[in-house]
Formats: sequence, structure tokens, C-alpha cells
Amino acid sequence: MGDRWHIEVDRSVCIGSSQCVNQAPNAFRLDTSRQAHPVDPETDANEKTLEAAEGCPVEAIVITLLGSGEVVFPPEE
Ligand code: SF4
Repeated sequence: MGDRWHIEVDRSVCIGSSQCVNQAPNAFRLDTSRQAHPVDPETDANEKTLEAAEGCPVEAIVITLLGSGEVVFPPEE
């Protein structure tokens, strides 16, 4: 892919289901209040992180392109 991504977890939405952590343990961690956060908010584009975002039951994970800010996930309706 070659792109760089900015990863954000909307903590007002995250329900701590930990699916993203199971799916992409290198990309997400749960904190002590059982909310997810990105291990590194700036990362190379990668399939695992995208799958984790797709798998989040409440769409709390937002991926944008670093630089342009273009939304990678969730797809615009
Ligand atoms: S999958 Fe979504 S709701 Fe579950 S911990 Fe990750 S960000 Fe939070």
C-alpha cells in the first residue's frame, strides 16, 4: 500500500470488547479502564489494522491518511 495512516479510537464509543486487540495485538491495547487505544497512532498502512477497524462492533476505530486526512475507514456513506 505504501501509505501512512493515523489511527484513532473514539473512546466515547469504544465498549472495550477487545476484538481489535485480538485481531491486531501489535496495533491496539486496552488500557486500565478497558478502552482501546492505538499502540502507535501513526503507522504504515496494513491489513491487520484495517481488519480490526472493520471488526469493531461499534465502529470506534477511525483510520485517516496522514497528511491529507482523507478517511480510509469507516467508508463514507
Ligand atoms: S473492537 Fe472497538 S469496541 Fe472493541 S475494544 Fe476495540 S475499539 Fe473498543
